[in-house]
Amino acid sequence: MIEAPKQDELLFLALGGAGEIGMNLNLYGHAGRWLMVDLGVTFGDDSTPGIDLIMPDISFIEQERAKLAGLVLTHAHEDHIGAMPWLWPRLRCPIYATPFTAAVLRRKMTESDFEGELPLTEIPMSGRFRIPPFELELITLTHSIPEPNAVVIRTGAGTVLHTGDWKLDPEPLVGPVADEAALRRLGEEGVLAMVCDSTNALVPGESGSEATVRDSLDVLIGRAKQRIAVACFSSNVARLESVAKAAAKHDRQVALVGRSLWRINQAARETGYLSDVPDFVSEHDADFLPRDKLVLLCTGSQGEPRSALARIARNEHPAVQLEPGDTVIFSSRVIPGNERDIGRLQNELARLGVEIVTERDHDVHVSGHPAQDELAQMYQWVRPRIAVPVHGEARHMMAHARLAEACQVPQAIVPANGAVIRLAPGPAERIAEVPSGRYGLDGSTLIPLHGETIRFRHRMLHNGAAVAMLLLTGKGKLAAEPEIAIQGLGEPDEIEAARTAAAAAVRAALEKLPAESRRSEDAIKEAARIAVRRSLHARYGKKPLTEVRILRLS
Ligand SMILES: [Zn+2]
Ligand SMILES: [Zn+2]
Repeated sequence: MIEAPKQDELLFLALGGAGEIGMNLNLYGHAGRWLMVDLGVTFGDDSTPGIDLIMPDISFIEQERAKLAGLVLTHAHEDHIGAMPWLWPRLRCPIYATPFTAAVLRRKMTESDFEGELPLTEIPMSGRFRIPPFELELITLTHSIPEPNAVVIRTGAGTVLHTGDWKLDPEPLVGPVADEAALRRLGEEGVLAMVCDSTNALVPGESGSEATVRDSLDVLIGRAKQRIAVACFSSNVARLESVAKAAAKHDRQVALVGRSLWRINQAARETGYLSDVPDFVSEHDADFLPRDKLVLLCTGSQGEPRSALARIARNEHPAVQLEPGDTVIFSSRVIPGNERDIGRLQNELARLGVEIVTERDHDVHVSGHPAQDELAQMYQWVRPRIAVPVHGEARHMMAHARLAEACQVPQAIVPANGAVIRLAPGPAERIAEVPSGRYGLDGSTLIPLHGETIRFRHRMLHNGAAVAMLLLTGKGKLAAEPEIAIQGLGEPDEIEAARTAAAAAVRAALEKLPAESRRSEDAIKEAARIAVRRSLHARYGKKPLTEVRILRLS
């Protein structure tokens, strides 16, 4: 535990998002209070069997929640708001967000069993507000979702610009361009620290514009002869609009296939976006349209097996089919870790005879994060005394720190989840550690990812499991042949032999136990456990997770 932030101090603490791209959770401490920025998730993979959603350990701020003044959400991406349904109910602090983010959040909160009124204050774009002792201002940037906001945090100990996710898109198509005047004004005013997006710090040049993507989609949709499907991230409203406009120009209607697209569509229209785009048609109505009069907008660009596009590719979708000569455009990037799933999906589409277009073939995607030239531009405008790279893996944050130093920022400090960094009074330094870690949503409960459940699940996954049940007399002798259950090891036609052999091994081991040990349940269990594992290892070359249960006759 650490002392409450002092009057002259400004502290920064990431509980998620430092050293990773995902589950962003940032805290600022000043004059006895904490301010939270974002509360996101990250996604599970092969290393987290059974776990799709991962979120930060919030035990520190949960204990300090009397000092938690409020939570500002920068934008509506999952890695910034995705943990709200599960973690916010433990904090119950006031929430601040712009209208689109608020609309997405309200829908999201219905995913959990949280019911009741959210203490959510909508802040207009470029709005100023107070969460004492913090004075806040939003600065509009551009990204890959409507309403990406940087947050200016002014305190008696200095001013921080927390950029959130951003890029400099000269033609974002939805929403205004980044507010350069506000950033320059802030630079003039003086900025202690900039906490900034590192995602593309290794990428030279600029990230490119949504306008380029719109032009490419227009060409591709214009020249296609049959049905077209476009896979993109559902939250990219500008991309949805681009597909809709290109489709309308070429006399096609657009169907949304996938629930998250409909949710974003509703949130967008409710807050004034997509207003000059015709209504989308449902997947059921889509099937009645001629093949050359339709564009399908689908979820599943990352090859997620349960998504709309994966089901279409497997010919398992109830309403929508693709045929030879149809086109699928992946208007998205490959998120590292998803290569295999995407490869599988594209193979399935190829087998259907579908033409596949990706960002390697045409300009059908641009990143929403700043490449090196954009970062340098931001440092020129804001001129912070301290650079704090976040929203990146170690290599991205280190590259970002070097870039900041090359941009004449006097100090760059690379944070880690759980490390308390004192930004003022300076120089910036790590002053303490608080607990940090990851929790996975396992069915309906949150479990620590470094806990027993996942450890055991891994061992079962790789080695199978066995349970030995022993019926013992009062004197510790076997009253019947041991029962051995084996799972995830052995095929049905020979599993009986394996069970018999393991049971015999247990009997032999127990007979060898000295009389004294036979009075100890632990000694019996351990002897039986080793016997089962040895027997199965001799047969299969695997050591399954093994448990022994004892029943006693009295
Ligand atoms: Zn993000
Ligand atoms: Zn984002």
